[in-house]
Amino acid sequence: TLRSMFEQTVAKYPDKEGLVDVKSGKRWTYQEWDEEVNCLANTLKDAGVEKGDKVSTVLFNTAEFATTLFACMKIGAVFNPINFRLTGKEITFILQDAAPKVVIFENATHQQVAQAAKEVRGVQFWSIDQHELDFAVNFQGQIEGASRDRPDCELDENDVYAIMYTSGTTGLPKGVLHTHRDMIDQGLIMGAVMQVTDKERGLSVAPMFHCAELHCAFFPRLMMGGTNIIMHHFEPKPLIQTVKEEAITTFFAAPTMWNMMLQEDLSDADFTSLNKGLYGGAPMAPALVKKLHEQLGIRLFEAYGMTEMGPAITVLTEDEQLDKAGSAGRALINHEVRVVRTREDGPADPEDICEPGELGEIIVQGPSMMPGYYNRPEATEEAMYKGWYHSGDIGSFDEEGYLWVSDRVKDMIISGGENIYSREVEDVLFDHEKVMDAAVIGEPDEMWGERVVAYIVKKDGSLTDKELDEFCTATERLARYKRPRRYEFVEELPRNASGKLQKFKLREKLKHV
Ligand code: AMP
Ligand code: MG
Repeated sequence: TLRSMFEQTVAKYPDKEGLVDVKSGKRWTYQEWDEEVNCLANTLKDAGVEKGDKVSTVLFNTAEFATTLFACMKIGAVFNPINFRLTGKEITFILQDAAPKVVIFENATHQQVAQAAKEVRGVQFWSIDQHELDFAVNFQGQIEGASRDRPDCELDENDVYAIMYTSGTTGLPKGVLHTHRDMIDQGLIMGAVMQVTDKERGLSVAPMFHCAELHCAFFPRLMMGGTNIIMHHFEPKPLIQTVKEEAITTFFAAPTMWNMMLQEDLSDADFTSLNKGLYGGAPMAPALVKKLHEQLGIRLFEAYGMTEMGPAITVLTEDEQLDKAGSAGRALINHEVRVVRTREDGPADPEDICEPGELGEIIVQGPSMMPGYYNRPEATEEAMYKGWYHSGDIGSFDEEGYLWVSDRVKDMIISGGENIYSREVEDVLFDHEKVMDAAVIGEPDEMWGERVVAYIVKKDGSLTDKELDEFCTATERLARYKRPRRYEFVEELPRNASGKLQKFKLREKLKHV
């Protein structure tokens, strides 16, 4: 279980620095951290949280986030980390669905939480900051005087450890369940493939509520006994500075975060300590992969996956990164990944396997696959048709068995009967030196059904649509029908907290033009 994993690390490395909170400047050895965890676990127990009850957080990356997680593990409570960027209404939906006993939040999220607090009943709200709020009590006040002894609890590896709500870019968010065993498997596999050791000084800067950071980076490091340094949220300058000051060896960041770091003045940056950079959650353009290598000497691991799978299912290792830039790599240990033919009338048949080079839906099996969605039997059955998780991603394998992710099924553009995969067009646009960020979507077209529109964030103000169109033609990488028919220059692209493009927002914008 995650509890025994945590306690084993504490027993092996009691005096080692276990947790560092950059914002508050506080540091804990593993032993001290364990005591804090016990203290909170006992407090939750005293507040009526029993095994199987849920505890939600609406926290940025904080020591309290990590402590709450393991406090839940100590008493068998189910951890429910909520995206700190959600609106009050969205948080209300999740709290009504998950029905937690306690919600822990902070100053930076108190407005959304206050709104949700008006709607939900029977929930205690605890703030980690000193607040005078009518709907909440202070966290410090709660834990004061609580026992620091280890609470008793019977726990099985198949018990549910967490409910994580998927970003819900389509429809209402669904709660993905994960067991303790799922996480031990994911942690061990990622730890092995990245060769994580107890020497690691790892930085959590990508949102910890998202499983990419939590399960692919934080858990493996904790299992091996590394040091966990926590940054409240992403900002390129402070991140670059922290890497240097804390001699960070590893961190996960979404592709857009890596991109933003490259835009900074890097004369004072020092990435020499960093030996295991990791990205995932969204595609990274090959041009950016290469730039990171050239300008900073950074080689990266890439993970591809989804919350339902724990999340990672394939990785591209640092050795493969340059040769196969843009690929999602190969299946992780104990995982099986297939590309299968899609059907009009239902989920794809797992046995109808595509040839190399042929595009289809990516489906997968692995030890960290969710047992199902919380309270959504139909959605679970559909997603896990014939025992394979159907990702809704389109991709293909090349002759060497590397997976290439092209698009979400729902984001694919169909123009004049031809399929256009956004990624292919975006990667070309990204290659232009004056392009900072790019996204393409389809807009309705009387003649062609849909036509390609590109949203561009400029790096250099002089960039014009004519220049981009000439560039797309000159590269000869895009057939005529794939080239954007229209360019829109924007200040930034809508992305969620884990760096994923929210194309539905671009489409909504189109409707209002
Ligand atoms: P989520 O469950 O919210 O993390 O979203 C999972 C989705 O993110 C996948 O189905 C993919 O569409 C996308 N994704 C995750 N990792 C990658 C990656 N390395 N490359 C391309 N797309 C990715
Ligand atoms: Mg499992």
